[in-house]
Amino acid sequence: MALLTGVLRGLMDLVFPPECRVCGDEMAPGGDPISLCDTCEAGLRTIPKERCPKCGKVNLKRAAAGAARTQCRECQSGTRRFDVAVSAFLYGGTFRKLWHRVKFSNRPDWIPSIVESALEKIGPEEEFNPYLFDLYTWVPTSERRRQERGFDPAEEISRHLSEKYKRPHMALLRRIRDTRPQFELSRKDRIKNVEGAFAAAIPRDQRVRAVLLVDDILTTGATASACAAALKDRGAQKVVLFALARGG
Ligand SMILES: [Zn+2]
Ligand SMILES: [Zn+2]
Repeated sequence: MALLTGVLRGLMDLVFPPECRVCGDEMAPGGDPISLCDTCEAGLRTIPKERCPKCGKVNLKRAAAGAARTQCRECQSGTRRFDVAVSAFLYGGTFRKLWHRVKFSNRPDWIPSIVESALEKIGPEEEFNPYLFDLYTWVPTSERRRQERGFDPAEEISRHLSEKYKRPHMALLRRIRDTRPQFELSRKDRIKNVEGAFAAAIPRDQRVRAVLLVDDILTTGATASACAAALKDRGAQKVVLFALARGG
């Protein structure tokens, strides 16, 4: 069956050569799994090892100096409520263009291959053993945006992880008040904007000692932290964040 599928895919590629998902250039059959041409693939940057071990923030100056992994100032201040954040790509360049296409050209069908690629880049990571979580949930997008798009990208990432690792995935978080778009705000205002904006509802019989919280992009981490706080208020002891990409 796998052989037949492979043969069929080969034939399909000959009739309809795959196109790069970012620049639209025609590609050689059987290329990169997320369908990026060589040029775009080269613009996909992964998170270097020189990063904050808790939130993954990259300090390029320290990275250049080959500094040891020490927590960033914000993590040291203890305001982040998630335990660890794991992500694969640096937000920018190719990843940013690719993710825009997923969200604005309505391509949730691309998400599984992007998640697979992210998992490959992350590799074995001490804090991210997908089998050790009681369940997976995600940072919910606003209802208005969800309706505009027809899907919630973070939910689709969580769904793929749940199918792959056979762990339950369910909506636990909801927004309990409106928030302003985070990108409009300063770092300090972002924390205030989302503080207490989420509530977690956990079924009584559901074990939630360790929760994998899924999001697409981690920027300041304020939203993820507010979600982790809501989960911990309802009994979660450990919340690990999984995001495809990490911004500044
Ligand atoms: Zn390309
Ligand atoms: Zn940090």
